[in-house]
Amino acid sequence: MPTVETARGAIEVADLGTTLMHEHVFVLSTEHVQNYGDGDWWDEDERVADAVTKLEELKALGIDTIVDPTVWGLGRYIPRIERIAGQTDINIIVATGLYFDDAIPHQYEFRGPGLLIDLPVDPMVTDFTKDITDGIAGTGVKASFLKCIVEHKGMTPGAERILRACARTHRETGAPITVHTNSFVGAGRLAKELFEQENVDLTKVVIGHAGDSNDLDYLKELADAGCILGMDRFGLDIYNPTDQRVATIVSLAEQGYADRMVLAHDASCYIDYFPGKDAEAAKEAFSPNWNFRHISEDVLPMLRERGMSEDQLRQMLVETPRRYFE
Ligand SMILES: [Zn+2]
Repeated sequence: MPTVETARGAIEVADLGTTLMHEHVFVLSTEHVQNYGDGDWWDEDERVADAVTKLEELKALGIDTIVDPTVWGLGRYIPRIERIAGQTDINIIVATGLYFDDAIPHQYEFRGPGLLIDLPVDPMVTDFTKDITDGIAGTGVKASFLKCIVEHKGMTPGAERILRACARTHRETGAPITVHTNSFVGAGRLAKELFEQENVDLTKVVIGHAGDSNDLDYLKELADAGCILGMDRFGLDIYNPTDQRVATIVSLAEQGYADRMVLAHDASCYIDYFPGKDAEAAKEAFSPNWNFRHISEDVLPMLRERGMSEDQLRQMLVETPRRYFE
């Protein structure tokens, strides 16, 4: 029986259940908290309790697992995730990788094959592999997938080095990859091409934020290559409103692509891009549906109403996530 690691340890892949493939527990900069969090906006215990409440709410809506691609650059801090995972029934799958689209962290910049400190293997690969095989920072929690990013600047030298490090780690460990992409510049295509060169199994790649696009030719090109389309920003209407996202999914399903799409909101329990006591209200005003409940409460009924079958929904929420982690 294949297993997958979660923040509470390994479970059988068959037990993942209904899965949202791209949600963050926290998006939070450690440096931001350490330098400016002593005001009125950061209280560790309060935020942990709030996260537990929100995740329990999500579990009550029928979601069994969230896949959390929070890595360095988005404030990954596994002891906090472990604390939350211990207080909720939902499974949280954590990632390794880097969220840097241009300049890579200086801690890697000068070290690696042919660099100032000449190492035989890129230290990113060493660190990603350790997170997957040994566990993260002494916690024992293991990462189950790799995360990287190609943004509006395209395949910068930094992005390229990080994607190649993820590809190599994928080849050596079998861990699947989620790549954040900017759909408006077709960044998913750049990621797909690089992963093809690197002999990555494209059926183990989620093109994150593909669902910001309604360009069916672009989306089918990625899916035809085997990639999984991340229809994963429900509620972020500034990129693509729910109606359009739903229409695109329905259209792709009608053309036989229901097995190559996964769903999520890219939401979080707390994101310090909007700090301060009133930030939650400000976030809600700017994107009222950008929360964990939107898919269960609004999107699934819309997909059913527009003719998608229970089998097709199950494919996106259960079968494809399962296949990704098998
Ligand atoms: Zn995200």
